Amino acid sequence: MENCLFCKIVADQVHSQKVYENDDLLVFKDIFPAAPVHLLIVPKRHIATLSNCTGSDAELLGKMLALVPVLAEQQGCAVKVDEAGNHYGGFKTLINSGPDGGQEVYHLHIHLIGGPKPWNGKNI
Ligand code: AMP
Ligand code: ZN
Repeated sequence: MENCLFCKIVADQVHSQKVYENDDLLVFKDIFPAAPVHLLIVPKRHIATLSNCTGSDAELLGKMLALVPVLAEQQGCAVKVDEAGNHYGGFKTLINSGPDGGQEVYHLHIHLIGGPKPWNGKNI
């Protein structure tokens, strides 16, 4: 898709700090991180927004979401349980959709936001 920033990142025409890649997906660091861990999970295929997705995108969406715990583990922000049974760690996953949803880049992406608090959180 011409003039799509994330398509250009997928095509390596714009630099990004990549952390993961497979046939369908690319993951890179958000340029303005809202927290110690702030990754963007994008499909290599251009989809403008979640609002355009249908059942035919279910497999791709499932792959995007299923990657979250893998990345969280790699980035050290997975949800853990201590010896007393208390949960600690964790992350936020976010898909902004459309102007009212705060979407700035019209190429579908999941934000993975985590790491020790307090975060400097913008719009999250
Ligand atoms: P959204 O508001 O959900 O569309 O989020 C777009 C995100 O893309 C924002 O958090 C931006 O900081 C991030 N962003 C914009 N340009 C770049 C870039 N060149 N590389 C990495 N992240 C970017
Ligand atoms: Zn795109």
